[in-house]
Amino acid sequence: MARAHKYDVIVVGAGGAGLMAARYAAQNPGVSVAVISKLYPTRSHTGAAQGGVGAALGNVSEDHPEWHAFDTVKGGDYLTDQDVADAFAHEVIDAVYELEHMGLPFSRTPEGRIAQRKFGGHTRDHGKSAVERACYAADRTGHMILQTLYQQSIKDQVVFFNEFHVLDVLIEEGTCRGVVAYELATGELHTFHAKSTVIATGGNGRMFKVTSNAHALTGDLTSIVWRRGVPMEDPEFYQFHPTGLYKIGVLLTEGARGEGGILRNADGERFMERYAPSIKDLAPRDMVSRAMFLEIREGRGVGPDKDYIHLDLTHIDAEIIEERLPDITEFARIYLGVDPITEPVPVQPTAHYAMGGIPTTIDTNVITDGENTIVPGLYAAGEVACASLHGANRLGTNSLGDLIVFGRRAGIHAAAYAKGADFEPLPTDAQDRSRAVLDAVRGASGSERASHVRRDLQATMMDHASVFRTDETLSKQVEILKELRDRYRNVSVEDTGRIFNTELMEAVELGFLLDNAEQLVHAAQHRTESRGAHSREDYKDRDDDAWLKHTLVHREDDGSVRIEFKPVTLGRYEPKPRVY
Ligand SMILES: Cc1cc2nc3c(=O)[nH]c(=O)nc-3n(C[C@H](O)[C@H](O)[C@H](O)COP(=O)(O)OP(=O)(O)OC[C@H]3O[C@@H](n4cnc5c(N)ncnc54)[C@H](O)[C@@H]3O)c2cc1C
Repeated sequence: MARAHKYDVIVVGAGGAGLMAARYAAQNPGVSVAVISKLYPTRSHTGAAQGGVGAALGNVSEDHPEWHAFDTVKGGDYLTDQDVADAFAHEVIDAVYELEHMGLPFSRTPEGRIAQRKFGGHTRDHGKSAVERACYAADRTGHMILQTLYQQSIKDQVVFFNEFHVLDVLIEEGTCRGVVAYELATGELHTFHAKSTVIATGGNGRMFKVTSNAHALTGDLTSIVWRRGVPMEDPEFYQFHPTGLYKIGVLLTEGARGEGGILRNADGERFMERYAPSIKDLAPRDMVSRAMFLEIREGRGVGPDKDYIHLDLTHIDAEIIEERLPDITEFARIYLGVDPITEPVPVQPTAHYAMGGIPTTIDTNVITDGENTIVPGLYAAGEVACASLHGANRLGTNSLGDLIVFGRRAGIHAAAYAKGADFEPLPTDAQDRSRAVLDAVRGASGSERASHVRRDLQATMMDHASVFRTDETLSKQVEILKELRDRYRNVSVEDTGRIFNTELMEAVELGFLLDNAEQLVHAAQHRTESRGAHSREDYKDRDDDAWLKHTLVHREDDGSVRIEFKPVTLGRYEPKPRVY
């Protein structure tokens, strides 16, 4: 296969955001589009999404996009950019109908409309009570979105490069000119020359020990562009989902609580009544995860070690469970040997979602500073990006909505830019950085194993930088990350071959993960307040006077970290204390 490629638009990532971008770009006659993905497209994590996509269709009870926008802003603890939330809440309605017209098999109401259920933080009329807003296909919503979009992109003649790992984004003299990728099957480097590049590479949850995230979610591109001078926005806001299966973190959708599931402590008490009297178990995830940690810390955890909580579905009709929550019922049976129909399921908070990411404008242009200076030709969408729709805490079902709304915007804007731009020349040394990344691991002779460094990274991030943080734990983690980086330099691989060298790729991914941890820990140490998913035990209150602003974490050439800030775009919703 030729190793130099040229496309008007290159999309990196084949999850919901990438496929939506590719489709929209490809609908412009004459614009060539290719998708590069380290996984076969339908293995992307979007396919694991369960519970639903939120849109104010009003199919089950009255609903309005304004209510959805308000919930998103309040759920985000007022760090959400309000222009983004407004645009999102309106456009997601249309985007869901578009998926329906593409043939997505949504679950249905008795009248044949798209069925909707309750989800955390989604309310009617500005917090009065929970509202049915999540459109779902049983508990396989993401799977159906991914399959539907993949079929459509094949129809639209998008070209796919599967099992190609992007190792570098070619940002030269301030503009983006394409990417370099490693072909897993052959071990060869390929250069992709592009007018527009869309980054849609998903999350970075593998930096934590207990996580719902798939193995491939190692934050590759949030590291790669960081090293190219693009800052990270708000990485300190990392979401823990309340209901991961005990010890293994496999997710049980919030849809289970949307269908009536209840969290109980060792006394059998429905403790969320104390923390969120009006919407109880359907409070936003940051609040529920903290409440679970506190119950456990105060000795009311379940089990011999009192270290988990029960998710109780036993009062729900067995038929409803089997029909609307079939996959998670199976997960509980297979992984824990517990049948949710007759027994409560042991759960604990699990690392789930990065609210922060590559900073973008509302039109998905990547920016490099607090003045919104854009990188021409570079776009980002989906979990990897930060527009910022989710602020300090994302509401359930708003990520799938984000993918289709901002994936679409990315495709439209990337194609429009490509139509009016020329191919900027590529540097002759385009592959040098990528080769250096590979050689650093291939050429190392140390005795350290990538799996050991990764295990220690995940365990210490869990201990020092997860649901609760203090200056002490974060300072400790800064030091630990330095040690882990030193150990990483001594990581060598046993497989020196070129063909399907997954050991080499896992070691390279670990290097990316270390950067992601560093971004998070420095930003978290800097922000001396508690807001959304960032909970500082030494600064327990939200402090709008000092901290109603976004963090931008830069990496300097000498490897040090610099923090800058960016104002939050406010709007009609005044920041208020968050009560549910
Ligand atoms: C178990 C689970 C359940 C969830 N349920 C819901 C839900 O019900 N509702 C909701 O709104 N959200 C849910 N979420 C969150 C949501 O699914 C994700 O945030 C979203 O799917 C991310 O989509 P994406 O397109 O940004 O990236 P992904 O779907 O993660 O895709 C990333 C793509 O990037 C590619 N890639 C990554 N690195 C590279 C590289 N270096 N080179 C080349 N390609 C690369 C991968 O191959 C992949 O194709 C859930 C998440 C999980 C983990």
